[in-house]
Amino acid sequence: MKTKIGIMGGTFDPIHLGHLILAEETRVYFNLDKVVFIPSGRPPHKNWDDITEPYDRYEMTLLATNDNPYFFVSAMEIERAGLTYTVDTIKRLKKENEDAEYYFITGADSLVDIYKWKSHDELLKLCKFVTAKRIGIPNNELENLIDKINKEHRDTAYLLTIPYIDISSTEIRDRVKSGKSIKYYVPKEVERYIKKKKLYIE
Ligand code: NAP
Repeated sequence: MKTKIGIMGGTFDPIHLGHLILAEETRVYFNLDKVVFIPSGRPPHKNWDDITEPYDRYEMTLLATNDNPYFFVSAMEIERAGLTYTVDTIKRLKKENEDAEYYFITGADSLVDIYKWKSHDELLKLCKFVTAKRIGIPNNELENLIDKINKEHRDTAYLLTIPYIDISSTEIRDRVKSGKSIKYYVPKEVERYIKKKKLYIE
């Protein structure tokens, strides 16, 4: 049987319970052997100055995933120089483990832009995509997108039904900035790290 590996891609600034629940639900649903969290390096579509240092985002991801034996964290994108494209990440992973089947897990708001990503056609042949419904993205838009991908690339895109966890990293950063509690929004180790390193205050 092929090894099945989930790849959880995101900026994780910071990682929160919504990410962790989606990763765990995907692992169980697809019976994945493991899920590797890959904090983004220099995403092609973002202003780098607005994003927290890669080391801090990586460290918070480690702290958040530490208690799940199926979860791993890779620094491969933050160590890569220049812009990081998902197609390059997946190609590299495939080279390391040719027989594995990869499931790229990401937010619905990222997936809706997939047709703008570098070499998206090639990428959709290399791995499967898993996402979940989220407030702000109309369900029919997401369902149409999943249908379109699956018409072009059979059995490639999946929309999971998981509990709505309406938490976003933006909201967490805003809450910290305005002195509000983020208890239960993030694992307590991440909350401690944010406090200790005084992240998101300015
Ligand atoms: P992001 O800024 O972290 O996320 C964009 C939106 O999607 C946010 O609302 C985010 O919610 C949500 N999200 C992101 N990752 C998620 C996840 N794993 N589970 C649940 N929600 C998630 O991420 P991004 O920079 O758009 O990128 C997401 C992934 O797609 C990364 O791995 C990135 O490298 C890849 N990507 C690749 C290309 C390319 O190759 N050209 C272009 C765009 C994105 P939160 O803010 O709450 O996290």
